[in-house]
Amino acid sequence: MSTAYTLETGRTSPNSSTRRSKVRRIVIHHWDDPRRKPTFDGTVGWLLRDSTDVSAHYVVEDGRVARLVPESRVAWHAAGGNADSIGVEINPRQHDGDYETAAALIADIRSRHGNLPLVRHRAVEGSYTSCPGTYDLARLDRLASGGPVPSTTTAPAFPLPRRPGRMYYYGPSGGPQTSVSGRGLNTAVPADVQRVNGRWRSHGLARWQQRMAERGYSITVDGRFGEETERIVRYFQALVGLPVDGKIGPSTYAAAWTEAVR
Ligand SMILES: [Zn+2]
Repeated sequence: MSTAYTLETGRTSPNSSTRRSKVRRIVIHHWDDPRRKPTFDGTVGWLLRDSTDVSAHYVVEDGRVARLVPESRVAWHAAGGNADSIGVEINPRQHDGDYETAAALIADIRSRHGNLPLVRHRAVEGSYTSCPGTYDLARLDRLASGGPVPSTTTAPAFPLPRRPGRMYYYGPSGGPQTSVSGRGLNTAVPADVQRVNGRWRSHGLARWQQRMAERGYSITVDGRFGEETERIVRYFQALVGLPVDGKIGPSTYAAAWTEAVR
């Protein structure tokens, strides 16, 4: 297992174009279905061929990283997502060392471009693929941020009322009164949503965000439900097998404490 890796820069793919947009995300791929027995060198060879029209910035396995396209150029790995991303192709066997080397690479990329989110290839607009299989992006994220892995524990009580006709949850502003965003006054939950230093925030939502940050997510702990929190809610719900509705009700709230970090 290896967090240190050898960076191979001797080969450059002809399949790249000029970068005109800021890098905003890292797209995670696996080489192929492991049943097809893909190899590091086979993957690199494929991405170097100018007849394929495909490439990636990096190919990764335990202890080894090949850079085929410089980050300053656009690689061709994810349909509608090429322009603003860096593409990373990882060994689909998912050895611990594959995670650790990929995480070390991700940490290096972030040191150059800021705290970029990780995105699955199949989540990129215009992509029709199962890639990257079951790769656990939360684990990659956690390893890349170097934080300790929190153990599971009893969840705190869900902070909002859940009675017939009063089924409150954390969700976007602009929804019904039962959608508590923490972004403004909500007279139904005066203990939870309060003004701190001139800014509205939800105490209970901040607590959940804090726990998610400890799990390795790149989330702002501000007690306010916005696009970033919703994106992470949806990702987390899918990961742990909850219905994906983008809202934090009692199950999604508790899962941040009770679900093992994988
Ligand atoms: Zn892919």
